[in-house]
Amino acid sequence: MNNRSMGNQAIDYNPDELTAVWMVVIEWDGDKPPTVYYNRIRKMGFTVRGDKSTSPLTRRAGFEGVVYQEGNLICRAESTARFLSGLASEYGARAVSIIRATFASTTMSESDARTLESMQAYFGAKGRRANPVKWCVTCKDEGKSYTIETDKPVVCPNCGSLEINYRQGDKPAYMDQETINPRAVWIGSRFGNGLFESPVLSNDPIDGYTNPPTNPTINTGDQTRIDHLMHSTLIDQLNRLADAKIINRAGYLAALDAGYCVLTKNNDTRAKSRIESIARFFARGGDANELTLITNPLDVDMIDLYPVMGETAIENTLRYDHLMNH
Ligand SMILES: [Zn+2]
Repeated sequence: MNNRSMGNQAIDYNPDELTAVWMVVIEWDGDKPPTVYYNRIRKMGFTVRGDKSTSPLTRRAGFEGVVYQEGNLICRAESTARFLSGLASEYGARAVSIIRATFASTTMSESDARTLESMQAYFGAKGRRANPVKWCVTCKDEGKSYTIETDKPVVCPNCGSLEINYRQGDKPAYMDQETINPRAVWIGSRFGNGLFESPVLSNDPIDGYTNPPTNPTINTGDQTRIDHLMHSTLIDQLNRLADAKIINRAGYLAALDAGYCVLTKNNDTRAKSRIESIARFFARGGDANELTLITNPLDVDMIDLYPVMGETAIENTLRYDHLMNH
């Protein structure tokens, strides 16, 4: 056994300095990986060893690659990850993927703590569950609403996010009138039930579809977010794209949904996402000099919508950039 595999690096390792790792995720499809596979990686020094007085993370990260769980290897170098994924495939793994992962803070925010408390109360409660009923669940990581039947919603039924609003009943359905400006329709249709929801809109009369309320009751926090949104860089960008017929009404409203959701996030989360989003914009041929890296907690622009809208946000930013500079 050589010194390196005994973990000399682990002693000097400082978790604050390690910002990203490579993960090899291996699917053995219920089978036990062959012993020869374990022997092979152990002989190469890719195992959890080291001083038990240090944290498992410290011990794990100190090596080039480690057995973290049966199907999950963490490595410092991409080349190690590729090598280990090849090895697993050779010994019968059904599927192997390599993921580049960055460390995120494990400190709970106030809203995380509230969610944990209500989940513990819900799952810890004794006795019979209430009968399932219809709920409209709105996911603030996707800017979308879903109707589900359950005794009580806990997470987003689509993505599992904890950042949800919910109330009993169906997802709202409203009439849309193209003569009314999209911002007014957005406020009425999104906050018609008090909390943010993303409804179904129709231009044609359908049974049960009503006009959105013109003056919904909105709580102070949401009212502040709406005020910021309505005076944002995003509105200016959307208006220009709409005037140039580059974005349609549905696209305009979806961008406002995403803008609202982004404004509910804390600034640290937004700042990290913004850097990723700008990298994506740059990778797709955008001129990154056009964008500031700084996140403004009182403002939101098109590129900020990437975590919620995905590639659509990048495409809209590219279109806007093209419109303004050509
Ligand atoms: Zn979701």
